[in-house]
Amino acid sequence: MKIVVLKFGGTSVGTVERIKRVAAIIIRFINKKYKVIVVSSAMSGVTNDLIKKSKELSTDFNSAEYDALVSSGEQMSCALIAGRLNHLGYKSRSWLAWQIPILTDGNHRSARINAIKTNNLKKYLNEGGVPIVSGFQGINSNKRITTLGRGGSDASAIMLAKYFKAKKCVIYTDVVGVMTTDPRVYKKAKKIKIISYEEMLEMASLGSKVMQSSSVQDARLNRIDIDVKSSFIKKDGTLITKRKNITNNKIITGISSTKNDAKITLVGIKDKPGIAASIFKPLSENNINVDMVVQNISADGKETDLTFTIKLEDLNKTQKLVKLNKIIKYKNLIIDKNVSKVSIIGVGMITTPGVTFRMFQALSKKNINILVISTSEIKISVLISKKYVKKAVSTLHKEFNLDSQDEH
Ligand code: ADP
Ligand code: ASP
Ligand code: MG
Repeated sequence: MKIVVLKFGGTSVGTVERIKRVAAIIIRFINKKYKVIVVSSAMSGVTNDLIKKSKELSTDFNSAEYDALVSSGEQMSCALIAGRLNHLGYKSRSWLAWQIPILTDGNHRSARINAIKTNNLKKYLNEGGVPIVSGFQGINSNKRITTLGRGGSDASAIMLAKYFKAKKCVIYTDVVGVMTTDPRVYKKAKKIKIISYEEMLEMASLGSKVMQSSSVQDARLNRIDIDVKSSFIKKDGTLITKRKNITNNKIITGISSTKNDAKITLVGIKDKPGIAASIFKPLSENNINVDMVVQNISADGKETDLTFTIKLEDLNKTQKLVKLNKIIKYKNLIIDKNVSKVSIIGVGMITTPGVTFRMFQALSKKNINILVISTSEIKISVLISKKYVKKAVSTLHKEFNLDSQDEH
C-alpha cells in the first residue's frame, strides 16, 4: 500500500472555502493512487478561544478537563472535511483518538504518543475509506483524553506516518515552507529548500512555531522525511531530512526569536556549592522549564548574582516558589518581562570559525545590548530587550547573507 499522511494546520481549515480547497488537495493524492490518511488541526482561533474560556473559569483549570475541552476543536474540523469528501462522492469519516486508538503517556496538556493501534484504520483504508484523524489528541491508560502540547497535530501526523510506514508526510500550512526566519517578524525571510532534523529541531524549540519541536524529534528518531508546504499555493516547500542528504555551504540556516520570556535575577546570594541546585529543584518539581542561566563571578568570594530565564506564563508560579524557598537567601529579586531570545542556527557554524564574533559585532553596531548568552554546537542564542527583536533579526539576516538569494 502506498500511504501518504497529509496534515492541515488551523489556517488551512480556517473557513468553509479553505476546507473545500483541502478536499481538493486530498483528491489529488487519491487520483495518484495513494491511500491517504488526513490529520487536521482545529480551525484557526478555536483552540485559543477554548483555552481563554478555561482561564476565565479557573486560574488552575483541571488538566484532564482542559484536555477534553481543548481537543474538541479538532472534532469539528475533521467532521467538516469528511462531510465535504462525502459530498464529492468519496468514502470518508472522522476518527477521534479513542476510536483508533492513539495511546499516549506523560502528563495531560503535554502528553506524547507511545503507540498507535493500526488495525481499525488499516481495515478502513483497505475498504477504500479516507480517514480524517483529529490531530493534537490521544488517550492515556485511564482512557482519558490527552493533548500533545500546542501545535501538537504535527506530532499526530508524524507518528501516524511512522506506524503506517507512509511514503510521505506532508505538513500543509499558511507559509510556503520553513523560512530563514518568521516572515511575520522580517518580511525578507526566504524559503529554505532543505533543512536537517537537527537544525529544524533547534529552530522549532527556539521559537519558530512552523513545526512543533517534539514532532521534529519524533521525525528524527524515526527517520521520517517531512515536506512542509503551503495549502494555498501549489509550490515546492521545504524538505526536513537527515543531514547526510544535504550539501550546501551556508554558515547559518535560520534565525529564530521568542516572544514570551521572562528574566529573573537573584541579587546577593551566597557563593557556595549547592545554591543553584536548591533554587532550581522546586522549579523542576513544578514542571517549570529554566532556559538560560548565568551566574556572575563573585568579587569577594562570598556573594554573587544568579540570572535565569523562564517562560512568561510560569513567572507568577516561579516567583512564589522562589519566595517560599527557605534554603536560599538573597538581597533582591529583579524581574524583567520585556526580554526575548534571538538565535542563529546552522550546522555550518561547526566548521566556520568566528561566527560568535560576527553575531556580537553586528548587534553591537546597532547598539543592541546582550543580556545573556547560550550556545550549542549548532546555535548561538542571545537574550535582548524585546523592543529590539525585529532590528536584531533583520541585522543578523543581512550579516549572514540570508537576504541575498531567492531561496536557500
Ligand atoms: P499551522 O496552523 O499550519 O500549524 P502555525 O501557525 O503553527 O501553522 O505555523 C505557521 C506559522 O509559523 C507561520 O504563519 C509563521 O508566522 C510562523 N513561523 C515562525 N517561524 C517560522 C519560520 N522560520 N518559517 C516559517 N514560518 C514560521
Ligand atoms: N489546535 C491545536 C493548537 O492550536 C493543535 C494544532 O494546531 O496543531 O495548538
Ligand atoms: Mg502548527
